[in-house]
Amino acid sequence: MKIGFIGLGNMGGGMAANLARVGHEVRAFDVSKDALARAKDKGCTPCTSVKEAVADAQIVVTMLPNGKIVDEVYSNEIIGHAPRSSTFIDCSTIDVDTARKVARDAAKRGGYEMVDAPVSGGIAAANAGTLTFMVGGTPSAFDHAQPVLAAMGKAVIHAGTSGAGQAAKICNNMILGATMIATCEAFVMAQKLGLDPKVFYDISSKASGQSWSMTSYCPVPGVGPQSPADDEYRGGFATNLMLKDLLLAMQAAEQVNAAVPMGARAAELYQAFADLDQGQVDFSGIIKMLEASGDA
Ligand code: NAD
Repeated sequence: MKIGFIGLGNMGGGMAANLARVGHEVRAFDVSKDALARAKDKGCTPCTSVKEAVADAQIVVTMLPNGKIVDEVYSNEIIGHAPRSSTFIDCSTIDVDTARKVARDAAKRGGYEMVDAPVSGGIAAANAGTLTFMVGGTPSAFDHAQPVLAAMGKAVIHAGTSGAGQAAKICNNMILGATMIATCEAFVMAQKLGLDPKVFYDISSKASGQSWSMTSYCPVPGVGPQSPADDEYRGGFATNLMLKDLLLAMQAAEQVNAAVPMGARAAELYQAFADLDQGQVDFSGIIKMLEASGDA
């Protein structure tokens, strides 16, 4: 299949490479020359512009930093430039409103089908082809996108109509942000109360305090399966990306009048952690801020 792939950064680079590996003709573009050169090494055909990359694409995939860029790239360089029969897949994490607006524009200005398909899983999953995609769009758009997404992931789930993929993503990550902080503060307090962290893990991971943040991504080093805590909170999912998702969740909550007191507090605490120049640190590293603020 002919695929135009735009945005070859930390995530898109691995995703485009996986599409090329299974035999798709991937015509790729990124404003970064380095990213473009890496994609070429991994079997993609480098293009000099978005318009060139999408000119005969059957599928267009975008993996871009934010909603403003997604809107600009689709409005100015994809809609009207890709063949009318092509299907658009935006895998970036962006706000629900922009996802819906871009899909509406694509339909109105060219009759294109489009899905929002944000991912769960980080850079390692993008490279390994084990992402989970949450997809919003019509059943027909989903059917066209599904085989392409399946080549980049382990699960492709149809969440509902346009914007539903982004809604699922930010609601899921709001749970993740809040449970990670709750898990961190419980470990810090347990230790201050004289409990060994391993013993507390053994108890709570089998009791009602259990969550993914505890048993798959424990924020305490040497406890539970390997996680960024065991590597000084390097790698994993950066605090800046968690903060981005929480701020998107807060924006959506305000628009639909949803009460999100825990999500709001999680956003404040991740903002405070990022303000300490810790934005590149894995999001479970927030345990260090909680330890330090208790001792202050
Ligand atoms: P990144 O910054 O590494 O990659 C984005 C790429 O887009 C860059 O290479 C940049 O040069 C390119 N770009 C920017 N403007 C462009 C334009 N106008 N035309 C063409 N290319 C352009 O970011 P990333 O970590 O790959 O994340 C991409 C998206 O995936 C974001 O929306 C992010 O929130 C989401 N996401 C990231 C992770 C993660 O762990 N990194 C996990 C889940 C979701």
